[in-house]
Amino acid sequence: MRPTGKLHLGHYTGALENWVARQNELNADGSRAFDTYFLIADYHSLTTSLETTDIFDFTIDMVTDWLAAGVDPEKSPVFRQSQIKQHTELFLICSMLITASRLERNPTLKDQIRDLNMEAISYGHLGYPVLQAADILLYKGNIVPVGEDQLPHVEITREIARRFNKQYQHPKLGDVFEEPEPKITKFSRLAGLDGKTKMSKSLGNTILLSDQPEEILQKVRKAVTDTKKIRKNDPGRPEVCTVFSYHCRFSSPDKVEEIARDCRSGALGCVDCKKICSEAIAGELAPILEKRSDFAAQPNMVKDILLNGEEKARMVAEETMKEVREAMQIG
Ligand code: SF4
Repeated sequence: MRPTGKLHLGHYTGALENWVARQNELNADGSRAFDTYFLIADYHSLTTSLETTDIFDFTIDMVTDWLAAGVDPEKSPVFRQSQIKQHTELFLICSMLITASRLERNPTLKDQIRDLNMEAISYGHLGYPVLQAADILLYKGNIVPVGEDQLPHVEITREIARRFNKQYQHPKLGDVFEEPEPKITKFSRLAGLDGKTKMSKSLGNTILLSDQPEEILQKVRKAVTDTKKIRKNDPGRPEVCTVFSYHCRFSSPDKVEEIARDCRSGALGCVDCKKICSEAIAGELAPILEKRSDFAAQPNMVKDILLNGEEKARMVAEETMKEVREAMQIG
């Protein structure tokens, strides 16, 4: 995840929740199903902004949210890409294993150019998924929990892994890399408050994980609903309503059914519906908010968590790079 500061509900439902579930998943014998690694993609931030002064504070804010949402640094190393030099080394090698035209066809890049009104992109931005491939392959990632928009990047990672294995074989291991599988999140695209398809900081349509219940209510009050439901008793269409999409994620299945029925019949008005919705969101975020304030009061502990995570990650990354160099007969 790129360090863009405090996280919002889109990050939570699109990634974080899925990460924590994988971290805590157990096999039948009680052992952990996965070794999980969580990366702060600080170099990736440079693809859309060269401004670096806020990156450190944004990192601390973001890690605070991760910890509050259940990332356990004892189980999952948490680390910055920029502090583990093997990322840039493998990135360089990976960049030789894919063509520029393949990267130009990347649909995620095309969406980004459109959303951010970009006139031209840098060489590094074109290589965004190549750096991501290095991030994944360094830890021999076999499962990558991602939102829908990142699927093309996992595909590029798979292509690079395949190309490497075809070109270079390790004398003992044979293939150095496994092709990773994406693990998609059900609510990978939470709509923004303005009804836009994605909740995004740059679009200013977010609910933050750190928002207090009153702030959540104020924000949900302004959310776009069915524009044809003007008066309380007008029949509505939940399927086109942003607030209803939040209910689908944050309210119980019975409640969702009741809201859909009462919206359609006109028994439920948008003001009341939004109140119920904001309470459901605030209810789910309450334990996160509480833990967040504990971690926010201990910034030095968050920094230590990063340093420890980086030490662990660096060892794994160097082990992989040794295999890569041996397979390539470099050095
Ligand atoms: S009643 Fe609820 S679901 Fe129906 S349009 Fe209003 S906010 Fe949306």
